[in-house]
Amino acid sequence: MAELEVRVVSERRDGLLLELGRVVNEYGHVLVRQRWLQEEQGACLTLVLRGPPDRQPALEEALGLHPRVLRFESTRSLPAGHAVDSVAAAMVAEPVAHAAGSAGSSDAGPSLPSGADVARVERMLPGLAKDYPRIFPWLINLEYAVSAEVRDASLYLAGKRTGSWIFKRDFSLGARLALVDAIRRIALPALRVLVTVEQHEHQLHVRGCPLCQPGAPSGGRFFTGFLEGLLAESADTPHVVVRETRCHSLGAPVCVFDVSP
Ligand SMILES: [Zn+2]
Repeated sequence: MAELEVRVVSERRDGLLLELGRVVNEYGHVLVRQRWLQEEQGACLTLVLRGPPDRQPALEEALGLHPRVLRFESTRSLPAGHAVDSVAAAMVAEPVAHAAGSAGSSDAGPSLPSGADVARVERMLPGLAKDYPRIFPWLINLEYAVSAEVRDASLYLAGKRTGSWIFKRDFSLGARLALVDAIRRIALPALRVLVTVEQHEHQLHVRGCPLCQPGAPSGGRFFTGFLEGLLAESADTPHVVVRETRCHSLGAPVCVFDVSP
């Protein structure tokens, strides 16, 4: 595995990461980090990618020729850590085919949302747990690795699994709490590790969510699942439901998550 840093300039930012992500995935690479800059000529996006060195030249060519890319530069380097590398290698080695069949299988259980790419989410979770709380590259990779129809359900499932794992890891010793207290004492501190967040009674306001970029599809389903996973066993209500009622990807200043019993 080797790392490749690419810098592209595009006219607009809308959906660019998702479109380039598909190309990155097609050439067996995963996204490690991304950074945006606004320049005079347009939006400038720097991506650090990891994948098999023999596929780098073809990937560089495909990105350089992409219709949305106005300017393209790249730098190759070898990663320092081999441990992280093996996780990335496991992700890369997976076939691109979608495990659509597993979504409806009986062993998926009644609590799983229909349509999620369960197999792919399951494969991703050990790596995500290892890198926690630096999980956004994993989720962005998931977003473009699955087909558009199962994207929301897959993000939701990943969120729910992550939320219940964090609850068990960090919070499981306390008694059940009134919903508003569970939000304050469990959901808020857990979310704060990942994003900038404020609580307003039964709402959580997330600022600058990395999964909800303006013009791109919302990634808020990850957080609805994450919050439900955290609160399912901590609040004194049997069914906590979380909905994203406003989203930065649709132009709202913050993403708003509404928690109801
Ligand atoms: Zn959002």
